[in-house]
Amino acid sequence: MSEQITGDFSSLGLPNSLCESLKSLGYELPSPIQAQSIPVLLEGRDLLGLAQTGTGKTAAFALPILTTINLKKASPQALILAPTRELAIQVAEAFQSYAANIPGFHIAPIYGGQDMRAQLRQLQRGVHVVVGTPGRVMDHLRRNSLDLSSLNMVVLDEADEMLRMGFIDDVEWILDHTPDERQVALFSATMPSAIKKITNNYLKDPVRIQIEAKTKTVDRIEQQYVMVSPARKIDALTRILEVEDFDGLIMFVRTKTATVDLAQKLEARGYASAALNGDINQKQREITIEQLKNGKIDVVIATDVAARGIDVPRITHVVNYDIPYDNEAYVHRIGRTGRAGRSGKAILLVTPRERHLLRSIERSTGQPIAESRLPTSEELTTRRVSQFRENILETLESQDLSEFKQLVTEVQAEANVDAEEVAAALAYLAQSDRPLFVSKDRLLDEPLVSNHRESRGDRERRPGNRDNRERNRAPMDCYRVEVGRNDGVRPADLVGAIANEAKMRSNNIGQITINDSYSLVQLPQNMSSKVTSLLKRVYVRNKPLNLSRVDDSEMANQQRRRR
Ligand code: ADP
Ligand code: MG
Repeated sequence: MSEQITGDFSSLGLPNSLCESLKSLGYELPSPIQAQSIPVLLEGRDLLGLAQTGTGKTAAFALPILTTINLKKASPQALILAPTRELAIQVAEAFQSYAANIPGFHIAPIYGGQDMRAQLRQLQRGVHVVVGTPGRVMDHLRRNSLDLSSLNMVVLDEADEMLRMGFIDDVEWILDHTPDERQVALFSATMPSAIKKITNNYLKDPVRIQIEAKTKTVDRIEQQYVMVSPARKIDALTRILEVEDFDGLIMFVRTKTATVDLAQKLEARGYASAALNGDINQKQREITIEQLKNGKIDVVIATDVAARGIDVPRITHVVNYDIPYDNEAYVHRIGRTGRAGRSGKAILLVTPRERHLLRSIERSTGQPIAESRLPTSEELTTRRVSQFRENILETLESQDLSEFKQLVTEVQAEANVDAEEVAAALAYLAQSDRPLFVSKDRLLDEPLVSNHRESRGDRERRPGNRDNRERNRAPMDCYRVEVGRNDGVRPADLVGAIANEAKMRSNNIGQITINDSYSLVQLPQNMSSKVTSLLKRVYVRNKPLNLSRVDDSEMANQQRRRR
């Protein structure tokens, strides 16, 4: 189990300035990929890191880079290649937050679709780290606006994703333009042959780190997950807590900051809650656990470290507010319920990008986690209204209301209205900050389908183990659309637009290949002409798709050429 004692960030050889900023970010302990990668990279070795999305890879390479960078030298010493603009920006932002106590550190994100001049200015001003998409990095190298002669380190982030998006030749080209003596770190969730080839050709005697966990069974615990968008997790949680019938509940988050933050939010929503994290002293920790035991509090929000060894029989529910980095942590977390032979329930919030971690947990425990959906606003309304009714009926039966009746009669006379209206006004007031009639919220009311990038990733990652949805996918036709890389289009843009306009689930959209001036998309066979003519007129990146049917072999040829 994850009871193994891991050292903190300083024991990995990171300077105080970094440990301090990690502390203020609320990072308590290194994640497994961080604990294993950081010493290797600090030692100067090449690294092959195999880990899913959400395991904390950014800090695994950013922290060693920030440790070894020479701030006095204003030329790029590290280059990170990432598959998409969003990921490049995310990495740059993560660097900035880790470097909060390193004044004068500069990182430049460079990606297509952004004004070239702004990027040039940034590069000229002098930067220590460059993070970019392969296409744009190549552009800069060709124009000599990016000087890689001082480079000590290259990171290939999400290498399999870059392969899938057709960037692999670009990546090799860029690697060929870096100094021989640079260190290389390659991160990937899977090892398709093209990635093996890069590893063999460009990494020198790499240390291989794979984040995988032993299998454990967790019986007696009902496991569910809910797919939510990252920005709506707190609202999703509120809905879950409202309908779940729990006694004691323990909720897991990644950071210390989040334990405190959520404890406050839940307290404000009427749940007796407390935070438990590594900063809380032993005495207070014991008090909190005692209060959870005796029912003074019902909800404890904890980090993995802080929740070690908690054994409270009244915990009926475990909520994984943030998905754990590894499977062992998951098993350990949900084991906080179902104590002493009782049954328990574990609920996991998953964002679309974290879908791989979910699948990996399922594989390692050998148990499926059932998809569950959030209660809709209608269901919440029904529930609230019927509870309210019951309260009224009960009050009518059990309380002496004569003084209140007197009050109602007076108000009625004063406002010159029926008793019904006065009662309605009272009902309105009684709802306080929790409305009886919940308004619609599309993001929470409708099941969130994981985006295309993820579901396709799943498919590649699990050959021969496709889920039913995959197996039942309708046969596909290949279409050409007249937007391409030069327009800055990404697969997600096409999926979004087509799914939206054709009212199609995104998992009915098959492979996508992006070329310079056009793209190929697989769509279900025999689409009605109404749908195709609709799609012709859909605009993506300011250009009409002008969808046309092409031969299926076209896509196959292109995919083959890319491998
Ligand atoms: P990956 O690149 O593997 O997908 P990220 O580096 O993007 O993962 O990290 C995923 C999330 O986990 C981020 O929100 C990050 O801030 C958080 N995180 C990373 N390392 C830690 C840690 N040691 N403790 C707490 N949170 C962490
Ligand atoms: Mg990442």
